[in-house]
Amino acid sequence: MSETFADRDGWIWQDGGLVPWRQARLHVLSHGLHYASSVFEGIRVYGGEPFLLTEHHRRLHSSAGHLGFALPFSVSELDAAAREVVAANRIDDGYLRPVAWCGSDTMSLGDEGNHVHVAIAGWPWPNVFGPRAGEVGIRLGTSAWRRPSPACAPVAAKAAAHYSVSSLAHAAAKRAGYDDALLLSHTGHLAEATGANLVLVMDGALHTPICDGFLDGITRRVAARLARRAGLTVIERHIPPTDLARAAEVFLTGTAYEIQPVTAVDGVDFPIGPVTRLIREGYTAEVRAPSESVVLR
Ligand code: PMP
Repeated sequence: MSETFADRDGWIWQDGGLVPWRQARLHVLSHGLHYASSVFEGIRVYGGEPFLLTEHHRRLHSSAGHLGFALPFSVSELDAAAREVVAANRIDDGYLRPVAWCGSDTMSLGDEGNHVHVAIAGWPWPNVFGPRAGEVGIRLGTSAWRRPSPACAPVAAKAAAHYSVSSLAHAAAKRAGYDDALLLSHTGHLAEATGANLVLVMDGALHTPICDGFLDGITRRVAARLARRAGLTVIERHIPPTDLARAAEVFLTGTAYEIQPVTAVDGVDFPIGPVTRLIREGYTAEVRAPSESVVLR
């Protein structure tokens, strides 16, 4: 039988120390499982070094804050824990998954009185869409699901709750023969993919949606800095879907997706053009040798 995510060798950091992988567990009556009091991060490791580790742990803290709970470990304690996970599992190129959730002390809706738990797992994980997706691109289909209004969800948090829609949209896109879904915002503007932000290249400038109903990704900010450093203009605005017809290039940005060229949306084709290539090459260099000019602090 093949290895599952629960049944494998290695070490997971949980609530203050490393535990053997198979012993990293939570109770079935955890508040996080029933009421989605759960936030997480995805961090890539390149050559044994986690990329923008502190930024991700800062966002984990702020995501928990948006959901009304506080993490029992500081950002620097989480940074040190992540490095322990990288070393214990001998991760060279891989992925880290910090997750925090409210425990099983109470079952009341408000989670006061519940202990907050934190775990960090890590594993080798090269590419989301396969090793050649960066060169050949991926195809998106617009989803019937939309990102919520900020009045309907804590949209700035990287919270597990938002990923039920991501999962449904992703599964429907795959069934329809696409690689991933493109979601619109609650106002019908372009929003993002199921796990990455969206960038359109129009008249040589980068156009990217204002993140007012979904995650303001760290990779998107790195891409924007790389673009500005190359003399390109970056415009954040509410983008109607009809603007896709005017776009010369389309790409996605995300920790796991990296800079992912998009070659079609709903059957309309886009080339992998010079701007996408420039940002992609810049990002590939950046993750292995971070430069001061794109550091986000
Ligand atoms: N949107 C969603 C829904 C995501 O899951 C991600 C991945 N974390 C992103 C955008 C991109 O965020 P980042 O660049 O910080 O990984």
